Amino acid sequence: MADPQEYEVTVVGGGPAGLTTALYTTRLGHETVMINRGGGRAAMMLDTHNVIGVREDVSGNEFLQTAREQIESYGADYHQDFVNDIERREDGRFDVTAGNTSVVTEHVVLATGFSDVRPDPPLPRTGRGLHWCLHCDAYMFVDQPVFVMGAGDAAATVAMIMLNFTDEVDLLTRGDEPEWSDETASQLAAHPVDVVHEEIESMEKGDDGWLESFTFADGTTREYRGGFPMYGSDYNTALAEKLGADLNDDGTIAVDDHGQTSAEGVFAVGDITPGHNQIPTAMGEGARCGIQNHYDLRTFPMSTDEIEARGGEIEESTTPGISEELRARAREHNADAAAPPVEIDDTAEPADD
Ligand SMILES: Cc1cc2nc3c(=O)[nH]c(=O)nc-3n(C[C@H](O)[C@H](O)[C@H](O)COP(=O)(O)OP(=O)(O)OC[C@H]3O[C@@H](n4cnc5c(N)ncnc54)[C@H](O)[C@@H]3O)c2cc1C
Repeated sequence: MADPQEYEVTVVGGGPAGLTTALYTTRLGHETVMINRGGGRAAMMLDTHNVIGVREDVSGNEFLQTAREQIESYGADYHQDFVNDIERREDGRFDVTAGNTSVVTEHVVLATGFSDVRPDPPLPRTGRGLHWCLHCDAYMFVDQPVFVMGAGDAAATVAMIMLNFTDEVDLLTRGDEPEWSDETASQLAAHPVDVVHEEIESMEKGDDGWLESFTFADGTTREYRGGFPMYGSDYNTALAEKLGADLNDDGTIAVDDHGQTSAEGVFAVGDITPGHNQIPTAMGEGARCGIQNHYDLRTFPMSTDEIEARGGEIEESTTPGISEELRARAREHNADAAAPPVEIDDTAEPADD
C-alpha cells in the first residue's frame, strides 16, 4: 500500500466553514486537503439569503460547487469521503482515515456541522413551507400565517420572535407535553400566539409545491405559508471527542476566537461551534481559523531560538517557504490576472433595432 500523503492542514467537512478555511490555508501557502462526505446544511438551501455579493437565486449546491472549484484552483486537494477515524501520532501529527483515503497531517480542522432533528411526517418540503433557518427565512413570512413546531423553550421563543414579522403565529406541539419553563409559559400566555396541541392528520399543498394548510386530529384546518420545526440539533462531534476536544453543554465544540479547540492542533469552525449558524458567520470563522493555521505553520519569520537551533542565518536558498507545487499554482493565477484585458471597441455606432 502506498504511503499516505502528507499535508499541513486537513479540513474535515466541505460546507462554507471548511471551504473558507481551506481557501485561506491554501492561498497562504499550506498543503491542504479537504475530505467531505457531501450534503450538509448548506447543500439543503434552495436559494441563498444574507450572503452579500451572492445572488439570492443561487442554490446551496451551486454555491458549494463554485467554492470547491476555487479551492482546487489554488492547489487544495479534495476527496469526497467520510472521515471515520483520526488518531494522534507519536510525532504530534495525525493519521486521518476516510474510506480508501488515508492522510498524515499537522493540523486538523473539523467543519462537520450538525443535522437538524426532523419531526415525524406529514411535513412540507424544505424551502416550500418547512424552514430550518430563522434568520434566513423569517423575512419571507412577513404578513403570512406561520407555524412553529415543538414543545420546548426554543419553539416557544421562536413563535414569539415570529410576531416581529406577522400577526398570525401558531405554536404546534403535536400532542407532546410542553417542556418550556414557567417563565416562558408566562411570556407565551401574554403574547398573541395560538398554541395548538392536536396532532397533524394531513397536509394540503398548492400546485407550486408550497404548503397551504394542515388538518388536525380534531378535524380543524389551519392555513399556513410555512414555518419552523424546533426539535434541536445532532452535532457531528464524534471525531472531536475521539481527539479529546472539550464540548460545551449544548453539544457544540468549545473553541477560542480562532477556532482552536482544547486539543492541540485540532480546530473547529462553523455550525459545529457556538454561534449564529449562518453562512457569513461560518465563513468568518473559517477565515479566522485559516489565518491562525498560517500563523502556526508558516516558516518565516523564524524565532531567534529556531535560528540558533538551525545554526545561524537563513540562507536565501531555503526561501521561499512554500512548496513548489503551490508556487506554480500561484504563478498560473498571477499570469491569468496579468493577461491583457480583452479590448472593447466603444467607438462603434450602436446597432439599429
Ligand atoms: C434549509 C436551510 C437553508 C439555509 N439557508 C441559509 C441562507 O439562506 N443563508 C445563510 O446564511 N444560512 C443558511 N442556512 C444555514 C447554513 O446552511 C449553515 O449555517 C452553514 O451551512 C454552516 O456551514 P458549515 O460548513 O458549518 O456546515 P455544513 O454546511 O452543514 O457542512 C458540513 C459538512 O461536513 C460534512 N461532514 C460531516 N461529518 C463528516 C465526516 N466525518 N467526514 C467528512 N465529511 C463530514 C457534511 O457532509 C457536510 O458536507 C440554511 C440552513 C438550512 C438547513
